[in-house]
Amino acid sequence: MQWYYADNGIQTGPVSDPELQHLLAAGKITSETLVWQEGMSGWKPYGVARGAAATIAVSEDHALCAECGKEFSREDMIQYKDSWICAACKPIFFQRLKEGGIAAGTLEYAGFGLRFGAKFVDGIILFTANQVINFSLGASVIGSRHRSGFLAMQGLALLVNILLGAAYSTWFNGKFGATPGKMALKLRIVRPDGSPITYGRALGRHFAETISSFILFFGYLMVIWDDERRSLHDRICDTRVIRISS
Ligand SMILES: [Zn+2]
Repeated sequence: MQWYYADNGIQTGPVSDPELQHLLAAGKITSETLVWQEGMSGWKPYGVARGAAATIAVSEDHALCAECGKEFSREDMIQYKDSWICAACKPIFFQRLKEGGIAAGTLEYAGFGLRFGAKFVDGIILFTANQVINFSLGASVIGSRHRSGFLAMQGLALLVNILLGAAYSTWFNGKFGATPGKMALKLRIVRPDGSPITYGRALGRHFAETISSFILFFGYLMVIWDDERRSLHDRICDTRVIRISS
């Protein structure tokens, strides 16, 4: 898309999306600069015209901030729909969304069905991995005449299964905000303001989740009636599960 912008009242352009981002980064264009592109009814401030338009991803782990146009590591940014916003620009970005009629912080919470689906996919992955581990460990004691060795191996298998489950959710949720099951259904675990969770919180959430399942999975069912679709472990860890578009 080609853009035209007002430079001291003089129509300038056309420039491409990346060029516009560079002008933004250089401070030549701000959110207040009037811009126009084909299809628009009239000139509008860039911040309004762009809305929550897609941000340009410069690499797998870097993106340009939708607000200031500068490049940041995605770890230091929050994602809102298709846009990436740096920490410094977060307040102004959400302020603009609010003014634009899009309620700020309207994260699209994922309901029980989607979350159950994600859990099911993760369950299959972990079950398969655990079966392979248990079978391998079991095979190593076949033929052993010592019952104690067999029991020790069962204990070891159980321990490995527990550690694998913890490592799986901590690593995936800490790094991507989602396990493969959640990724498959386009879900992500975030903080209430939409920012990503840390590895520490991901680990804590894993153990909080065991509490949710210990009470006859009641902790999971809470998602159904909670206004922010929080499970018990979401409440304990102050997290939300949202749907992402892209
Ligand atoms: Zn920024």
